[in-house]
Amino acid sequence: MAARKIRTIEEMGEFGLIDHLTSGFSTLQESTKLGVGDDAAVIDHGAYYQVITTDLLLEGIHFDLVYTPLKHLGYKAVVVNLSDIYAMNGAPRQVTISVGISDKFSVEALEELYEGVRLACERYRVDMVGGDTSASVTGLIISVTAIGTLRKEELTLRSGAKLHNLICVSGDLGAAFMGLKILEREKQLHAADPGFQPELKGYDYVLERFLKPEPRVDILLALKESGIIPKAMIDVSDGLSSDLLHICKASRCGCQIYDDRIPIADETRKVAGEFQMEPLVPALHGGEDYELIFTVPLSDFDRVSAIPGVHVVGNITEEKAGARLVTGEGRAIPLQAQGWNAFTRQG
Ligand SMILES: [Mg+2]
Repeated sequence: MAARKIRTIEEMGEFGLIDHLTSGFSTLQESTKLGVGDDAAVIDHGAYYQVITTDLLLEGIHFDLVYTPLKHLGYKAVVVNLSDIYAMNGAPRQVTISVGISDKFSVEALEELYEGVRLACERYRVDMVGGDTSASVTGLIISVTAIGTLRKEELTLRSGAKLHNLICVSGDLGAAFMGLKILEREKQLHAADPGFQPELKGYDYVLERFLKPEPRVDILLALKESGIIPKAMIDVSDGLSSDLLHICKASRCGCQIYDDRIPIADETRKVAGEFQMEPLVPALHGGEDYELIFTVPLSDFDRVSAIPGVHVVGNITEEKAGARLVTGEGRAIPLQAQGWNAFTRQG
């Protein structure tokens, strides 16, 4: 008998692994409108859709408690899930939070974590309705599930992009990654010299973008006020490049984006310069910005361009044209997924 080849998770990648493990499931319930493969699952409740998403955050993989205050962590754990609900064009209503706790945490420390959860719930008007707690031997584990609702005609999937649609991006990109780089740098300097005092002054913007992201419900409201329902949408968790490729794959299309139209804050450019990094790199591949990428018909150009904080960065092309980044000199470079990947991330 031939030996069965053992595959490593790393060679399969996070998304390959999800596809592989979930491909054998069939849909048995009529109410299951959409399962795995978008920002959230969609359940048909007749009069409306319900959207559900869940995230698992592990100490040492997704967060580092050396520089992440617990209150910020609780806040971020909630809002990143709300961001996925918004990315379906939904309104979050409830969250559940489950935690695995090792014995190094005091009650006071956990109160901090839950204070962050409470602040996020209050700010985004969602109710915390349950969860679970357990002892853990491997550090802190947090799992949040968010539940939202939406009107059926407003559902926006990754698969809805159409040829010639405009590709829009909210806010600015790459700041969260540069915030993380600053925190990692200060951590290393502190490890080398315990007397070293971290110097975080002047980095407020990028640090806040990493430690306390805000999902873009304001953009959804502005789109609604302008009468625009996006054709396809995703939130930026892995980086513009990876997340736009998700839209292209699901919509079976190509895309063309222009490097000089990608929004990057001045602070991000400055910090990228300190690391001798081209600012476009964190903007394309950094991730964790929790901005929205969405597509709209060409006819919406004037209306969408008038919304503050929305940038038209390119357009949807035919699938065979591939996904391309066009530079100022007119060169076209293939867009590649190099985003955040929990199974291969270093440092
Ligand atoms: Mg998402």
